[in-house]
Amino acid sequence: TSFAHFNFDEQLMHQIRKSEYTQPTPIQCQGVPIALSGRDMIGIAKTGSGKTAAFIWPMLVHIMDQKELEAGEGPIAIIVCPTRELCQQIHAECKRFGKAYSLRSVAVYGGGSMWEQAKALQEGAEIVVCTPGRLIDHVKKKATSLQRVSYLVFDEADRMFDMGFALLFSATFRKKIERLARDILVDPIRVVQ
Ligand code: AMP
Repeated sequence: TSFAHFNFDEQLMHQIRKSEYTQPTPIQCQGVPIALSGRDMIGIAKTGSGKTAAFIWPMLVHIMDQKELEAGEGPIAIIVCPTRELCQQIHAECKRFGKAYSLRSVAVYGGGSMWEQAKALQEGAEIVVCTPGRLIDHVKKKATSLQRVSYLVFDEADRMFDMGFALLFSATFRKKIERLARDILVDPIRVVQ
């Protein structure tokens, strides 16, 4: 598979070319077409496999489709991850590739300023990258609304046992989590790299 197979538009391809990626990684080859098709997915891949871009690129395509259909408030995509460091890394990738369409990403995580995060959420963002507890705090305080969310990623889901999922990527996927995921996901496709 080459990048051409994904049929990304010129704006997104421009950002990918700037990254100097010459070809998609295996998890991208397998995962991107599935996510683009709208199916739920469980992705199992190691750190360093390119899994972040594998869920970010289809997310950007989805947001651009959705933005025209659903005007309104609140993020269209949510990426939930277990740590502040991961949150910041993923947020940086969202900003980098989101430039293709001038999309806005906000990172909200425990330990950061509640007030500053709330302000950023209220200014508006199509993408929110968060740790679970802090997202709940902001929703309770009505700093954001989840009503427009239609793309959900749980990154490193095995580190966040007790939550619901729609789209999963994980480095070490445990049996228990897989069972939970299978209860919640709709007929998910499993991609193992
Ligand atoms: P990840 O597994 O998402 O943590 O990604 C690991 C690293 O691989 C990151 O530094 C990415 O910038 C890089 N990367 C992602 N996709 C590709 C690709 N197609 N070709 C080369 N490097 C990539």
